[in-house]
Amino acid sequence: MKMFDPHIHMTSRTTDDYRAMSEAGIAAIIEPAFWVGQPRTHVATFEDYFASLIGWERFRASQFGIKHYCTLALNPKEANTPGVAQAVIDLLPSFLGKEGVVAVGEIGFDDQTPAEEHFFAAQLELAKQFDLPVLIHTPHRDKKRGTERTIALVKEQRFPEERVLIDHNNEETLPLVLATGCWAGHSIYPDTKMDEARMAILVQKYGVARMLVNSAADWGVSDPLKVPKTAIELNRVGISDNDIETIVWKNPIAFFGQTGRLTAEDASSLAKIPDPKELWEGNSVLRGQTTVAGR
Ligand SMILES: [Zn+2]
Repeated sequence: MKMFDPHIHMTSRTTDDYRAMSEAGIAAIIEPAFWVGQPRTHVATFEDYFASLIGWERFRASQFGIKHYCTLALNPKEANTPGVAQAVIDLLPSFLGKEGVVAVGEIGFDDQTPAEEHFFAAQLELAKQFDLPVLIHTPHRDKKRGTERTIALVKEQRFPEERVLIDHNNEETLPLVLATGCWAGHSIYPDTKMDEARMAILVQKYGVARMLVNSAADWGVSDPLKVPKTAIELNRVGISDNDIETIVWKNPIAFFGQTGRLTAEDASSLAKIPDPKELWEGNSVLRGQTTVAGR
């Protein structure tokens, strides 16, 4: 079964991860722009980061037969960095129309500050202008209130709910999201928060409509194989192959394909592992593409 991980930060991962993901059936991924750990103090750092998400990282994924897309945004945490936040908003229009950019994200709340709310609303507006869906991060602290405020803001801004993917849901927030027209993402983690077994219970209870799962793997303790591992668990508890395929393949394509930036055909277009001998020529990864300056 082909699988799609619609939220993974590959910039923080290795080629071993790409290989394992490809072997496990992952044919396509979405890499949302996010907080890179070290606070950024210059807008130019964002500019280079966005360029690497649409250039170098997409190329790196292709070496392993994985189609790479991204979402671009000012992330919720750095909405609180004065002097940089507005400059990133001003920079985004020059990137949002580029090939491979399939949504504005991740936006939303972290500490639920007024600055976060301001830039969240500003980016809903950008998504409208560029005819893109949005990927919304929900906070790890005070998640229920953050989710409620998120839904309220989407409604206030009259952003089309079917173009909203609210991510990192749990047992408490999922019913709130499903009561709207928004889609519901679930990040499956190794030790904390949502895991495969809890996800299987949610699928048994709520079904598969508007439901997505992802690994949210990044530079922290995380597992880039959580989508295939969740598929195995869903199968073990008796969910049908058709329903599993809806969650791990069809739904991400249906959601991100709404405005024509992504199709099923394109998402599976690289889904074969290339011959390593042809590609690597003795290097660990092919280098020297025009997307990388100065190498
Ligand atoms: Zn993320």
